[in-house]
Amino acid sequence: MSSPSAVPLQVEHRASLRDHNSFGLPALAQTLVRVKSDADVRRVVDHPEYGRAPKFILGGGSNVVLTRDVAAIVVKVEVAGRRLLRETADAWIVEFGAGESWHGAVAWTLEQGWPGLENLALIPGSVGAAPVQNIGAYGVELKDRFESLDAVDLVTGRGVTLDAAACRFGYRDSVFKQGLAGKSVITRVRLRLPRPWQPVLGYLDLERKVAETGNAHPDASTIFEWICAIRRHKLPDPGLIGNAGSFFKNPVVSAEQCRDIIGRDPEIVHYPLPDGTVKLAAGWLIDACGWKGKSVGRAGVYEKQALVLVNRGGASGAEVVTLARAIQESVYGRFGIRLEPEPVIL
Ligand SMILES: Cc1cc2nc3c(=O)[nH]c(=O)nc-3n(C[C@H](O)[C@H](O)[C@H](O)COP(=O)(O)OP(=O)(O)OC[C@H]3O[C@@H](n4cnc5c(N)ncnc54)[C@H](O)[C@@H]3O)c2cc1C
Repeated sequence: MSSPSAVPLQVEHRASLRDHNSFGLPALAQTLVRVKSDADVRRVVDHPEYGRAPKFILGGGSNVVLTRDVAAIVVKVEVAGRRLLRETADAWIVEFGAGESWHGAVAWTLEQGWPGLENLALIPGSVGAAPVQNIGAYGVELKDRFESLDAVDLVTGRGVTLDAAACRFGYRDSVFKQGLAGKSVITRVRLRLPRPWQPVLGYLDLERKVAETGNAHPDASTIFEWICAIRRHKLPDPGLIGNAGSFFKNPVVSAEQCRDIIGRDPEIVHYPLPDGTVKLAAGWLIDACGWKGKSVGRAGVYEKQALVLVNRGGASGAEVVTLARAIQESVYGRFGIRLEPEPVIL
């Protein structure tokens, strides 16, 4: 049997990234390396040419805006694998290779009879990127189902296992967007699916489904179907209309700032948080500034959801960023709030 190092690294030069980003933006990677194991990542680190060069880690490309060709070595994470690691009285612990599709992972756990991820159905991208921004939807965040992950350092090649505390999860945030940004390749993620399963239904769209169907006790597969239907109705399919999901984070303001805004705009959609601060709906702020359905060049604001910027066909990353800046300026001008982009802008 040949040793792993005898298998050549899969490298492409001047590789088109158009099919590797959900916005469908044009850009070339000078060098793209596909890593399928921890050993592959170490071989990139030890490589005489690539080892010391800057690198960009790419999963499914559903949370990036490519504004130019990428000079850094693009490390495309394709580590495969999924398994039940252990089953205890209070949880199923499942492990996935970072290159597995997130939605595929959600669907597979449900097929196996291990519920808990259903509220996170249909989020595009890879399992490995899920901890990076602590993905969340419909009342559940990755951190609520997280056990641990393995990562390989891009400078030393050393492997580490991090638990939730070490990942420092926050709202669309983790250590992989802070101190470890771009420095560590996540290769495997382990999730904890608690037993007994408890449905998470305290979200307006799901409450509506309960009311519509008269089913007050849906099982996990039903919630999965509901989530898929809600998302298909609200969000553009990146296969048809290029986009990166929510383009801006929901801003968090002080209670005083919120009262001030309510004084001027009583309709503002806001959610008080346990620490006394208030989360505002970024989509509402953008809509209030009249952006829904508008375009700048070939980039536009989705007609059904002002938080989603779309590629209307042939847009460049620069057009998307120009549109995003114009939105930020008008929201700041009217509400005094700076919207922060959610995707990574390269
Ligand atoms: C239609 C649509 C709907 C969406 N809905 C949601 C939603 O409901 N909730 C939500 O949270 N997000 C949502 N997103 C955003 C996106 O799906 C998630 O952020 C997803 O986790 C990105 O996965 P990816 O593999 O495509 O990551 P990429 O876009 O490839 O990368 C994103 C970031 O993670 C880093 N990264 C990727 N893989 C790794 C790795 N293995 N190790 C270390 N760093 C890595 C990259 O360097 C980059 O900084 C949506 C996007 C779209 C297009």
